[in-house]
Amino acid sequence: MAGKILERRNFIKFFIYGIPVLSIDWGSFPVGSKRHRAENEFDAVIIGSGLGGLSCAAAFCRQGFKTLVLEKHYIPGGYATTFKRPGGFVFDVSLHSTTAGERNGIHNLIPGFPEIKDVKFIPHKNLYRTVYPDYDIRVPQRDISSYINILIKYFPDEEQGIKNLFNDMRGIASDIRKFSTAQGKINMNRFPLDFPYLFNSFNKTWGQLMDARIKNVKLKAIVSALWGYYGLPPSRLASIYYAMPTIGYLEEGGYYPRGRSQKISNAFVNFIEKHSGKVLLRTKVEKILIKNHSAYGVKTANGKVFTGKVVISNANAYDTFHTLIEKDNYIKDYLEKMSKFSVSLSSFQVFLGLKKNLIDEVGFTDTEIFYNTGYDIEAEYKSAYNADVEVCPYGLMIYDNIYKGYSPEGKNTINIMTLQGYEHWKQYEADYFSGKKGAYRKEKERMADILIDRVEKKFLKGLSKSIEIKEIGTPLTNIRYTGNYRGAIYGWD
Ligand SMILES: Cc1cc2nc3c(=O)[nH]c(=O)nc-3n(C[C@H](O)[C@H](O)[C@H](O)COP(=O)(O)OP(=O)(O)OC[C@H]3O[C@@H](n4cnc5c(N)ncnc54)[C@H](O)[C@@H]3O)c2cc1C
Repeated sequence: MAGKILERRNFIKFFIYGIPVLSIDWGSFPVGSKRHRAENEFDAVIIGSGLGGLSCAAAFCRQGFKTLVLEKHYIPGGYATTFKRPGGFVFDVSLHSTTAGERNGIHNLIPGFPEIKDVKFIPHKNLYRTVYPDYDIRVPQRDISSYINILIKYFPDEEQGIKNLFNDMRGIASDIRKFSTAQGKINMNRFPLDFPYLFNSFNKTWGQLMDARIKNVKLKAIVSALWGYYGLPPSRLASIYYAMPTIGYLEEGGYYPRGRSQKISNAFVNFIEKHSGKVLLRTKVEKILIKNHSAYGVKTANGKVFTGKVVISNANAYDTFHTLIEKDNYIKDYLEKMSKFSVSLSSFQVFLGLKKNLIDEVGFTDTEIFYNTGYDIEAEYKSAYNADVEVCPYGLMIYDNIYKGYSPEGKNTINIMTLQGYEHWKQYEADYFSGKKGAYRKEKERMADILIDRVEKKFLKGLSKSIEIKEIGTPLTNIRYTGNYRGAIYGWD
């Protein structure tokens, strides 16, 4: 099909078809016609310059389509961004660890798409360290066998169950790869035979998958250590959704982009602009324009209209369907279905710039640490949901242990993060957005101080006295900068 100009219907179908494809043969995708269009006419109009919007735009540009990204903020990247503070500190807003990136000289920011070469990815020394009341485990980078051996050493009675569980996870990942590369050519009658792991797990939660293989509650908590990356406890987390990326991390490793996550966003923007695409910042989309149930363009807050053969929203789904699209009868059923979904947890973050190199002083060598007060993830989820910072689990990120020179000479940059529900912040919402932030500030300071104290007692003696800069990001901060409904960080639950 390469080279042919497709009808609009097929064009959309083809792109939707490509969504789950993990190993992409870009040569099989349609290419743009290079037909001259008026200044405000595009093949693809994309609302939002988060990593979703930017990677989507980069893919359209790569295929030669005339592409426009519209972003309301003054910098691109959505959550994948940075901010500066006095003293030379540059804080990363989100990414701590990713499986995307460059491996063995092959650049792979988007699978099968090696053109973007300007981000260097640094491996974490250990994939992560996870701490429980009676276990302290460093999960080795790209060495899943050693990790399995560590688990067997701690839980010898569960040896077979552990092996079976990891076998299930590998099987799920491999079935999904097979399913994706089949590009729709699947004989559904043979599905249970051709995709046995997928068939066995598609309607199971991660909790159920574990229950079938292992018994020990502590072991279950340890193998679920990455639940925070997906934001739901095992009883509500789809087994496939946990198994697939977790095996990805364990096998491929976790990496951090040199220059912080803004570097990834900027690399996408450079690529888009080099391929005649446009990224317009400070441009909020107010309406998606629709005719005969099809989107044909957008209207911005400053009254401009841009049209496109396709319109893609990287803005959160709630706003897309509740405010950007005119409510009409034909989406009634869809809205009703959506009203049963809930959004993911939000985040509460403490960004700290330290005036001295406390990390070396204390002799701390880890990069990403998860601290858990117990083994009951359902209770941990609840404490995060309820913003109970005295007991909720937290993540600690020590950037200077990823690469030297992250912070100004002789200083450190660290981040304490907890997942957090939005409910607690609702009482501050109206005041926050009308600029009356007194009570809000007091509350976020209170929570930050508790977390700093917990980290100081457990890991970094002398932390509170070493702070030069403290910045706090709450669920309301997330809404302010990204517009994400209830400050969600992972979309829908
Ligand atoms: C604290 C934190 C830690 C994380 N850690 C990791 C990690 O270690 N590894 C990992 O892989 N992922 C991590 N994530 C998740 C990852 O950052 C996000 O999944 C990803 O960045 C989301 O990208 P997105 O494009 O879906 O949305 P967003 O980043 O939310 O982007 C949406 C964009 O749309 C724009 N927008 C919204 N409405 C409009 C409008 N009407 N008009 C114009 N523009 C609009 C917004 O301004 C924003 O720029 C983390 C997230 C957070 C918050």
